[in-house]
Amino acid sequence: MTIAIVGAGLGGLALARVLHVKGIDAVVYERESSRGARGQGGMLDIHSGQRALREAGLIDQFFAIARGEGQDMRLLEPDGTLLLHEDTPDDAPLERPEVDRADLRNLLLDSLPEDIVRWGRAFESADNGLLRFADGSSATYDLLVGADGAHSRVRALLTDARPAHIGQNVVEVGIPDIDRTHPHLAEMVGRGNYWVLGNGLSLAAQRNGDGRVRIGLSFYNTAEDWFATSGIPFDDPAAARARLIELLPGWDSRFTALIAACDDTVVPRSITTLPVGLTWPSTPGVTLLGDAAHLMPPVGEGANMALLDGALLGLALAADPDDFPTAVKEYEREMFERTSAAARMSADMQELLTSPDAAQKMLAFFQPG
Ligand SMILES: Cc1cc2nc3c(=O)[nH]c(=O)nc-3n(C[C@H](O)[C@H](O)[C@H](O)COP(=O)(O)OP(=O)(O)OC[C@H]3O[C@@H](n4cnc5c(N)ncnc54)[C@H](O)[C@@H]3O)c2cc1C
Repeated sequence: MTIAIVGAGLGGLALARVLHVKGIDAVVYERESSRGARGQGGMLDIHSGQRALREAGLIDQFFAIARGEGQDMRLLEPDGTLLLHEDTPDDAPLERPEVDRADLRNLLLDSLPEDIVRWGRAFESADNGLLRFADGSSATYDLLVGADGAHSRVRALLTDARPAHIGQNVVEVGIPDIDRTHPHLAEMVGRGNYWVLGNGLSLAAQRNGDGRVRIGLSFYNTAEDWFATSGIPFDDPAAARARLIELLPGWDSRFTALIAACDDTVVPRSITTLPVGLTWPSTPGVTLLGDAAHLMPPVGEGANMALLDGALLGLALAADPDDFPTAVKEYEREMFERTSAAARMSADMQELLTSPDAAQKMLAFFQPG
């Protein structure tokens, strides 16, 4: 039986790794031309997904690259009021450590024989056991797993559902090598997460393993075409920074100093999700995992769910190697239940973030009672 996995993201690679550990062959088709072809973005907070890394036999290597101090948190209001300051003791358990996404992906890639991932193969279509790729090549499969992320093309084989905009537009900026270039701002942000919430806006700054502080400025309750009307000139980074500062009226000067110190990388990101609780009738020969199956707001569940999906699908296939349709059905039953709970929780968190008193609500979330 030939298992074809489309997408070498965290979910697809977790599946490939667990199958490899169980002695089952699979091929991963990835559209990027190599592992370094595209930046992998910032840090991920890995909690429930640790089980997947354990099943993959990689938990010790994961702890070696995870940053416990990345769990530190500072929560503030736009006027500068500090609501919460939590530093992680050196001996604290690594319950939700941060890991650089590229490091985690490399850990999974390095755990697989080289020929398992076929780079430069952009999936276009599949029918009757034949996959077709953008470069004109093709390959056969018995089971096709769509692990091709938010804009999945495999998804259309199972459902008409499409991601929809949720009224959040994010501008990503960042300060490189902050300890050297802006030591006082480095001290202010600290070793982990630095959040300023309120007034339908949020600023989330986070220190990355390479010394860069990535900053996401979120504009809530904004339309899908907001970037076109926001007046942010993305082709002129200095003017874009100035406009971003204008869009934070009344915010404490320490926060606007963070924006002013950013380099010329200014990236717009429009946030979309799939419907909470999306399911499809189980179909022999095709399934989905990760963002392709259940794209959620970016509040810390997506990568964890993708890792778990991959590992649990791998275990289900290994437990029933002569009956893939039954294994897939069993995987989907558990996955639908688990990920719809995570999507509901993420939607609740998203609602909290959009409220005018988001900082106070977040404080109550972290310090109930
Ligand atoms: C800014 C941001 C911060 C986040 N922070 C967190 C966090 O702290 N914790 C957390 O749990 N989650 C977080 N998430 C969510 C998390 O990143 C995703 O849920 C997770 O990466 C999904 O993994 P995946 O394997 O399903 O998809 P992806 O990681 O997106 O991988 C999909 C892969 O498929 C490939 N592909 C796409 N189309 C094709 C095609 N046609 N043919 C072949 N290959 C294709 C892509 O190139 C890619 O390599 C965050 C998301 C964002 C945007």
